[in-house]
Amino acid sequence: MTPADSIPAPRDTTDLRRSATDAGTGASAPALHLSELTRHFRTDQGTVKAVDGVSLTVGRGEVVGLVGESGSGKSTVGRCAVRLDEPTGGTVRINGRDVTHLSRRALRPLRKDFHLVFQDSSSSLDPRMTVGRIIAEPLRLHGLASKTAARTRAAELLGQVGLRPEHADRYPHELSGGQRQRVSIARALSVDPDLLIADEPTSALDVSVQAAVLNLLADLQRDRGFGCLFITHDLEAVEYLADRIAVMYLGQIVEEAPAPELFARPAHPYTQALLSAAPVPDPAVQRTRERIVLSGELPSPLAPPPGCRFHTRCPLADARCRTEIPELRTLSGGRRVACHLVSTDGTAPDAAAAAAAP
Ligand code: SF4
Repeated sequence: MTPADSIPAPRDTTDLRRSATDAGTGASAPALHLSELTRHFRTDQGTVKAVDGVSLTVGRGEVVGLVGESGSGKSTVGRCAVRLDEPTGGTVRINGRDVTHLSRRALRPLRKDFHLVFQDSSSSLDPRMTVGRIIAEPLRLHGLASKTAARTRAAELLGQVGLRPEHADRYPHELSGGQRQRVSIARALSVDPDLLIADEPTSALDVSVQAAVLNLLADLQRDRGFGCLFITHDLEAVEYLADRIAVMYLGQIVEEAPAPELFARPAHPYTQALLSAAPVPDPAVQRTRERIVLSGELPSPLAPPPGCRFHTRCPLADARCRTEIPELRTLSGGRRVACHLVSTDGTAPDAAAAAAAP
């Protein structure tokens, strides 16, 4: 069975979507709001601009997909959002509260509100703890349950993520990759967070279990209504799970749109290229589709190209693109695009035609 066979059609999440506003605190605020987030690293070779001015909102009950090539900075955004990595600029708000500069100690009681599920569950689960203890630990750490109540809750969560009661007494190395990822999800959800950051949660798994873990995430998100930043390079998965999608290139967002619109009508030439490389379930459509092959590698974030960062690989680049930075503009319908050639009504140039031209 291929992922295309096993992943159902995009779900209707209209009832889950709530307005993602920048303002407000507590219940009226978005689960996550990043404003001009930057993460620069100093190295012997110079300054690496891993994330450079990313603004993004995840509303309550909303799933926002963050996609891009490896090295685009998407995982660093996720790590900065939960303060596992320190932002060097901009702000991070969770439930309306500015957590950008909170000390570790001040942040500790808030950690129940947000969790990150890593790609590699084997390194994120303590090998010396049983599965039952791993799941119950956040409840105990935050003083949310007695030892007995935490154990009961862990047993419930095991069932909710499709594991059996006897798994509670096993150690992580006794489980398969898919089972370990289910444990990671159960632990993250044990304290009922408002925000889950899922960083490539299925990419380390066998194809045969990827769809099952993805379906589990979708079901839990629908039932519990937490906001989710879903970081992935798997376009099929993001189309299935996300309400909105942001596309990153070299540390910046180049396009953001509701998922169905992004897939139906990608505007930024980079998004067009990315989607053209994704497999389509229908072989007839696949045969007729023009693939945009980008020339060259992703440039180094040590020295991003001037002007539009994509100009060294863009089939539509002109003189203006080489000198003038395109602003990330909000177009009609709420789409955001950073390209000089996309008009305000969203009309976009055809990157495939330009790439095919002699
Ligand atoms: Fe391509 Fe120019 Fe648009 Fe950048 S601004 S994506 S180089 S057309």
